[in-house]
Amino acid sequence: MSLDVVRPSRQSNRPLRVSFEFFPPKTAEMETSLWHAIERLAPIGPSFVSVTYGAGGSTRERTHSTVSRIIRETNLKPAAHLTCVAATKDEVDDVVRAYWDVGVRHVVALRGDPVGGIGTTYAAHPGGYENSTALVAGLKRLGDFEISVSAYPEKHPESATLDDDIDVLKAKIDAGATRAITQFFFENDHYLRYVDRVRAAGIHIPIVPGIVPVENFRQTASFAKRAGAYVPQWLADRFDGLDDDATTRRLVAAAVAAEQVFDLLDRGVQDFHFYTMNKSELVFAICHLLGLKPQPAREAA
Ligand code: FAD
Repeated sequence: MSLDVVRPSRQSNRPLRVSFEFFPPKTAEMETSLWHAIERLAPIGPSFVSVTYGAGGSTRERTHSTVSRIIRETNLKPAAHLTCVAATKDEVDDVVRAYWDVGVRHVVALRGDPVGGIGTTYAAHPGGYENSTALVAGLKRLGDFEISVSAYPEKHPESATLDDDIDVLKAKIDAGATRAITQFFFENDHYLRYVDRVRAAGIHIPIVPGIVPVENFRQTASFAKRAGAYVPQWLADRFDGLDDDATTRRLVAAAVAAEQVFDLLDRGVQDFHFYTMNKSELVFAICHLLGLKPQPAREAA
């Protein structure tokens, strides 16, 4: 019997850095659970926490108020997501200025999904930023932001080839991006092969793997299909028979994600971005398995 599926703590002393992604809450109840998650995960000391921008710009105010509250009430460094969808350049620039004014200095700049949803054709808004490259350039004109962008180890569904995607990544970097965060993936070899191709194309910025804990396999698999992320059979097998057993699913999810991160660590990766879904339990457990524990709060000077 093999006991090394999840090791109790990591073997190497290489530094391990994490960042956490949240989405802005819709209701007072969701706000409470978001803040519970932030308070639980903050003491782990993430490099930054990011707050998404809803499809079609639907969370403009809520993203703003969430990052503002993070700045006011925590020591965390927030990154605000921003998309080009359904807005003129002036409207997007107003959002950017409002971010700057509350103290946001890191933006995750994205094109966004088509208004009709994933799978429909994307049309830039008349008078809007044409694509993510144009948005990155626009951000740089407005302030000295740190800019992260997306990367797709298994190809963006709208791209003809992976090389096209890598050309787009290059354009975003030339416009001012200094970090890429990947779409989630489950086959580490796909990510590592992608990084090799990106490096061969002369790109040297960090390509931070996006890690999604699979709390609900059916939901994740359905989203992965639309987003173009490959779901291996071994992953389906891990969750097979657990549709009605949320407790065991969570335990398995923590083990699977920790195992994925351990493997990447062994293969030289040091930074990891967790899609938290605003839930702290699983991500906290995964970080614990990785040896990341809450740090005592620093005394105010
Ligand atoms: P891009 O890199 O802009 O690529 C999109 C497509 O445009 C590709 O097919 C690309 O080939 C094509 N393209 C062609 N020419 C160019 C060019 N010159 N410049 C740029 N692209 C070109 N969505 C949200 O709505 N809100 C979020 O907060 C959000 N956060 C995300 C965070 C991460 C880490 C990731 C990986 C995705 C996120 N998304 C978010 C989803 C994202 O908006 C969608 O995947 C969207 O379809 C693509 O936008 P993009 O900026 O990721 O892709």
